[in-house]
Amino acid sequence: MTERSDKDLIALAGNPNCGKTTLFNAVTGARQHVGNYPGITVEKKEGYYHLDGRTLRLVDLPGTYSLTAYSMEELVARDFLVQERPRVVIDIIDASNLERNLYLTVQLMELGVPIVLALNMMDAAAARGVEIDVEELSRRLGVPVVPTVARTGKGKEKLIGTAAEMSLQDRPWTPLHISYGPDIDLALERMAAEIAAAGLMADVQPARWTALKYLEADEQVVGRGRADNPDLSGCLEAVAAQVADHLQKTLDSYPEAMIADHRYGFIAALLKGGVVKENRKSDRLFLSDQLDRVLTNRFFGPLIMMATLYAVYQFTFNYSQLPVAWIAAGFSSLGRFADSVMPPGPLKSLLISGIIDGVGGVVGFVPLIAFMFLAIAFLEDTGYLARVAYMLDRVFRTFGLHGSSVMAFIISGGIAGGCAVPGVMAARTLRSSRERLATLLTAPFMNCGAKLPVFAMLIAAFFATRQAQMMFLLTVLSWTAALLFAKLIRSTILRGPSTPFLLELPPYRLPTFKGLLIHTWERTWEYIRRAGTLILAISILFWALMSYPGLPESEKKIYDEQRQSLLAGLSENVRAAVAEGRTPEGMTPEQAKTVEWVHTLDHEQAQATLKHSIAGRIGSGLEYVSRYCGFDWRTNVALLSGFAAKEIIISTLGTAYSLGKTKRGQDIPLSDRLAADSQWNPLKAFALIVFIMLYAPCFATVTCIIRESGAWKWGLFSMVFNTAVAFLLAVLVYRGGIWLGVG
Ligand code: GDP
Ligand code: MG
Repeated sequence: MTERSDKDLIALAGNPNCGKTTLFNAVTGARQHVGNYPGITVEKKEGYYHLDGRTLRLVDLPGTYSLTAYSMEELVARDFLVQERPRVVIDIIDASNLERNLYLTVQLMELGVPIVLALNMMDAAAARGVEIDVEELSRRLGVPVVPTVARTGKGKEKLIGTAAEMSLQDRPWTPLHISYGPDIDLALERMAAEIAAAGLMADVQPARWTALKYLEADEQVVGRGRADNPDLSGCLEAVAAQVADHLQKTLDSYPEAMIADHRYGFIAALLKGGVVKENRKSDRLFLSDQLDRVLTNRFFGPLIMMATLYAVYQFTFNYSQLPVAWIAAGFSSLGRFADSVMPPGPLKSLLISGIIDGVGGVVGFVPLIAFMFLAIAFLEDTGYLARVAYMLDRVFRTFGLHGSSVMAFIISGGIAGGCAVPGVMAARTLRSSRERLATLLTAPFMNCGAKLPVFAMLIAAFFATRQAQMMFLLTVLSWTAALLFAKLIRSTILRGPSTPFLLELPPYRLPTFKGLLIHTWERTWEYIRRAGTLILAISILFWALMSYPGLPESEKKIYDEQRQSLLAGLSENVRAAVAEGRTPEGMTPEQAKTVEWVHTLDHEQAQATLKHSIAGRIGSGLEYVSRYCGFDWRTNVALLSGFAAKEIIISTLGTAYSLGKTKRGQDIPLSDRLAADSQWNPLKAFALIVFIMLYAPCFATVTCIIRESGAWKWGLFSMVFNTAVAFLLAVLVYRGGIWLGVG
């Protein structure tokens, strides 16, 4: 194996929730640096520690349960180990939950990296009545073991000292060999011999480990094997298939399950004979089991879960209302201020409609995201989220999703009124990348809070007598669409097995407030840092699309001349009031009529400008296609603007229909205008509702999809695919309705 290792590099590995971050912070203090692994959303934390004139570099690997590439985190952690080859890995385990945590330890040892075991949460273990013979455990494992309490920093010096000393020794990797039963062992031996002979992936990992990954059908390893040595890889895959087949026939089992069983067997043996003494009755596992009797009960479980999901939803969207309103008010007064101090012109328009609105849009999501992540961090840290996943897994698995997908759907608007931006980010709790992608791509079908006012307007215009039924129907429709398309995606472009639900339910734990806040802040800040800039850029682009290239000078002049001649007939103070956008007082009926004409003229000019803009031209061009579902250029341009934010659809439609205010200064309701329009009817309105429900997510969501999936192509895919689906269904509704004679 190539030697690239750096004696000052130490990696921290461990299961999620074992206290890794707490320990990392206790050791490195403020001397840390947060970034991301290249091209993906998984966070990479590095920190420094000074010891005896050396500067040790600590890297906090993502929390994982295994080293098989089931998820991005696992892939990242493993790649780091085999590529960067840290001389020592500090493996942090939760001492109060020893057996399950050692599962990762065993895999690290199978890979062969030199490890120091940090036996963390010793306080919690003691409270549970668990006694661990540290020396005996160290002797049996053959690695140094240091007890720690990360929360108080106890044991951290000794831990780092041990690791630092070990890193100077430059030990060779010595893989642990575990027996997996006769069938697998025999195959492993054969495969490992061939791998070693051919030198396949010899630069990164031991031969037996590569063979093991072939048996576990690890896509990344098999993929690289195929690229490096197709012939050999073919043989290895054939052997693996043979073993799988044989296990199926003889033991009704499969390789991953057998391998996991034997690892747990190894651990059980390791802890026998007094290494761990537990005083069972009073322990937390016992309490956990008691809680689970109620919380995952067949009858009460689902009820409590629904109540919890509803509470998360309420918390996310209701409690955040106050800060959302403050932010909105702040940005609108900023806009008014800019309006009052700047001379009219393109720069002013760019600043107000492009930049201030854009930044406002980015910041406006922050409370939603923060509240959502706080709620999720609570459910995750207590261990309840794993129960939700467990209860819903069967249902969602049918559609190629995962029990945890439910959170993303609910937040995105599964309970009508959510938002797909935090919704898409909630998909982060999913471990398998395929299931996560399928969730990311279908969650935007839900009826978010920005679509609702548009639906409400159309329903008020055309289905006024059945408002409640319509809203219910739309909720059912969006869930049906999301689940069916998830199924479609998972059986085509994202085909692959479901994540095996190996994970046992972790014991319940009361999270600390500080821990919750740190988790929430880290994730929220990441949104601002990563998604914010892109959202702002696209917002400016949209402003330009809707305002350029303004009306030709000749047409502008006609409007100006008409306006001048109207204004000329008004008295000085009325004219001043109109110019400042105030409603003049004490006008004669004639004057009032003239003022109204001026306003009408303004709206007509706005309409003409919109039609003349790039967006308007695209909208007109699209009529060739959109006529199949009955949409004209006005609807098209509104839908285009809806990509900036769905609620804008209403105001753009208003401009496109050159709506303004009535004499008393009230907005003319768009719904009345559409209801009275001979071009519109309930069928067309329904086709439009279906289209809006399903078409491309707003660009803030698309940005988050790109960030969360780590690839531009999935953002583009969601735009193209969703719009295609929306179009097909809208055509189906519209043409089908006409055919049935409903239109
Ligand atoms: P990570 O997911 O591995 O990064 O875990 P965190 O560092 O976020 O810790 C998970 C939870 O365990 C937090 O609520 C911590 O406060 C808590 N925790 C961490 N170390 C200890 C410890 O030594 N004892 C106890 N009782 N709690 C701990
Ligand atoms: Mg952490």
